[in-house]
Amino acid sequence: MEFTIKNARMLDGAIVDVEIANGLIKNIGSGLNNGEILDAEKNLLIPGLVDLHTHLREPGREDSETVATGSAAAAKGGFTAISAMANTFPVADTAGVVEQVYRLGKEAGLCDVFPIGAVTQGLNGNKLAELGAMANSKAQVRIFSDDGKCVSDPLLMRRALEYVKTFNGIIAQHAQEPALTVGSQMNEGIVSSKLGLAGWPAVAEEAIIARDILLAEHVGSRLHICHLTTAGGVDLVRFAKARGIQVTAEVTPHHLLLTDDLVSNYDPVFKVNPPLRTQSDVIALRKGLADGTIDIVGTDHAPHPTEDKDCEWQSAAFGMVGLETALSVVVKSMIDTKLMDWQTLVNRMSIAPAKIAGYSKHGQDVAKGSSANLTIVDTSANWIVDRNTLASKSKNTPFQGMTLPAQVLHTFLNGELVLRDSKIIKSGIGGSN
Ligand SMILES: [Zn+2]
Repeated sequence: MEFTIKNARMLDGAIVDVEIANGLIKNIGSGLNNGEILDAEKNLLIPGLVDLHTHLREPGREDSETVATGSAAAAKGGFTAISAMANTFPVADTAGVVEQVYRLGKEAGLCDVFPIGAVTQGLNGNKLAELGAMANSKAQVRIFSDDGKCVSDPLLMRRALEYVKTFNGIIAQHAQEPALTVGSQMNEGIVSSKLGLAGWPAVAEEAIIARDILLAEHVGSRLHICHLTTAGGVDLVRFAKARGIQVTAEVTPHHLLLTDDLVSNYDPVFKVNPPLRTQSDVIALRKGLADGTIDIVGTDHAPHPTEDKDCEWQSAAFGMVGLETALSVVVKSMIDTKLMDWQTLVNRMSIAPAKIAGYSKHGQDVAKGSSANLTIVDTSANWIVDRNTLASKSKNTPFQGMTLPAQVLHTFLNGELVLRDSKIIKSGIGGSN
């Protein structure tokens, strides 16, 4: 299948034609007309986005998301690769489960799905899972995480870091000291006192980050900190990087834009783990992402069905969907505020995550010979978020009704058009290889 994208705008502003064949960019120039034609109408062409933090819920909770519906949400959001977290039912703690998720991703063919393996068996925090078997499986797992739960036992964390070092793997930590967050419902601060909800102190996150960067230094292994939310956490990662420790960090779009005072109306759509923090934390996170202390944006796309969110605050599930709004929320938080340019956004949402995870066919600069994992964005568009139009099976977006900048128009996965005019094209079996 050959394609020519006409009139694409590159990051440097040049308007070019891009010819695609056999999953690769064959040529970039002018007056190209081979194969099927897609007119980009001077919209921005960038490498497909890469998310290292997606919850797809399959196997086990197909009522909230499947690999196929999550892949569709990803393609609509401009993502060409996503990493599926391990907290499914059963847990992705064996070669069998990670291979199942990997195969379902291939069958959906809308986005490359790379499973993350659990660090501990059943996410129980007691015994290491079969890390080697998952690494050697067809899914070739390189990132391991108990996300949703913290690997709180320091000895087990040390052993996990030691184990993955043998194959250059990464432990992605959900930093939450459990003893400091028993029953916690929201950020600990002025708002939690006013509302009478159990607080979740910043130190519960920062204590684990501090411990784990020191463990990573001691072992000489790679640590990734999931969803940083506090100013103190950013300072700790900055300290670790200055010391030469192999640590990378991510921030979610929602923590770049939303604050804990939104909890005041007790709407559980704003209930999330880790919780929304304060405006000064938001400012520190934005600064950290702009200066590269925070390497990447991770969506923490966490679908939940209506019955798990549309209830009282205390009993509602933690989590928000995010794949379809991620790019726009980052543009609103970082580009519209002049903290970052588009090239830096592409670094944080495509190039750096692909590099951290070793997804060699993703996050490549748009150039001759690169893999044709691409997305085209109307950077001047504004759109209103309507949860009913989301491709995700779950509708728990905190951005409902909000006007957001920048719209993803078209997405190519390994040379095949999977999203056209913001609509999913069913490409049949195996859109990817
Ligand atoms: Zn998490």
